[in-house]
Amino acid sequence: MCINTKGNTSGSINPRYYFISSSSSSKTLKWRLFNTHSSTMTDAMPPSKFEDADETIEEAAAATSNMEEDSAMCEPHDSSTDKTSADYYFDSYSHFGIHEEMLKDVVRTKTYQNVIYKNKFLFKDKIVLDVGAGTGILSLFCAKAGAKHVYAIECSQMADMAQEIVKANGFSNVITVLKGKVEEIDLPVPQVDIIISEWMGYFLLYENMLNTVLYARDKWLVSDGIVLPDNATLHLTAIEDSEYKEDKIEFWKNVYGFDMSCIRKQSMMEPLVDTVDQNQIVTNCQLLKSMNISKMTSGDASFTAPFKLVAERDDYIHALVAYFDVAFTVCHKMTGFSTGPRSKNTHWKQTVLYLEDVLTICQGEFVVGTMTVTQNKKNPRDIDITLKYSLNGRRCNVSRTQEYKMR
Ligand code: SAH
Repeated sequence: MCINTKGNTSGSINPRYYFISSSSSSKTLKWRLFNTHSSTMTDAMPPSKFEDADETIEEAAAATSNMEEDSAMCEPHDSSTDKTSADYYFDSYSHFGIHEEMLKDVVRTKTYQNVIYKNKFLFKDKIVLDVGAGTGILSLFCAKAGAKHVYAIECSQMADMAQEIVKANGFSNVITVLKGKVEEIDLPVPQVDIIISEWMGYFLLYENMLNTVLYARDKWLVSDGIVLPDNATLHLTAIEDSEYKEDKIEFWKNVYGFDMSCIRKQSMMEPLVDTVDQNQIVTNCQLLKSMNISKMTSGDASFTAPFKLVAERDDYIHALVAYFDVAFTVCHKMTGFSTGPRSKNTHWKQTVLYLEDVLTICQGEFVVGTMTVTQNKKNPRDIDITLKYSLNGRRCNVSRTQEYKMR
């Protein structure tokens, strides 16, 4: 079963609402922090009363208008209702809740801190560019480690807070916060020695912030400069997940006696961001793609990779699971972290892709195939995934192609 660490069942990545919520804990997609607001509200509600089920149309309408008010409250600097998903992307980073969640991800933040504090030789007297600074935490680490100057670019309203934080901590002479998009900003210096960024999204590539890092690298990094982190890898494994597949996918086949299978089709196409228990793993974990952030081009983030997943025991396979690792290879001691199911949980969890068929697999048999990952043409922050797989086993013979969309 996929255990949702947040204790709610809304692990789907497709948001419906962009309400603000005082609780950040039910975030589903990193840049769409507030999409599970309704479940948050439910969590906070007193025990249900029978009257709730008989809510009148007027009451429902009133509730909706309250929600619209909430929605407006989260956009203090722009009351326009005609927003694009790009606007929502940056808006979601304006609220402290998403930064709180990232900062409290100790695996993530401590790794960056260790990389910087334990490798001061890299930073001493260097010009650093922090791409997507958020609260400015990475810039503060770098300044404390002896950087000569840090340019912290942040496009959301959080840039104002970063500015205040820098001042409050006495680093105004070392850190310059620049509010704006990396792609549009005028950097006061022609070149930087180090680019540091925490750009990783769900499934590594969701959000497509990697493009922004590569843009900054090509524009400002000195020829022998370094990018931190400089290596990212995507991995794949297969899991037994009958209970959760039943709950999230097969549910639609019979809803209070009605066939809603058309929704099942949609739910199959949406990768689920959730925490997988390592005991669910049935096969080996296979490296799908390795990216050298110092050298790669943005085109390298779209690819087709083969895989071979060998069963380590007799079991059923309901889903494939993707996760990523990042590494800082220029450190004195190689440093990094994994978001895999065998590692300590991070806020990225894992990405679960349910299979149409339940595969019955015997130890030593394997699922082979390819995974194609491409940026969505309409919205490059979204990802399209094509999975081709086959199993030629004693109990099961399957060959299929499935499409997924991370939205
Ligand atoms: N560095 C911070 C925040 C990481 S989240 C930390 O480690 O806690 C990524 C941040 O990058 C978000 O705050 C987002 O608003 C910002 N960002 C994303 N794309 C950007 C762009 N093109 N230009 C400037 N900032 C960007």
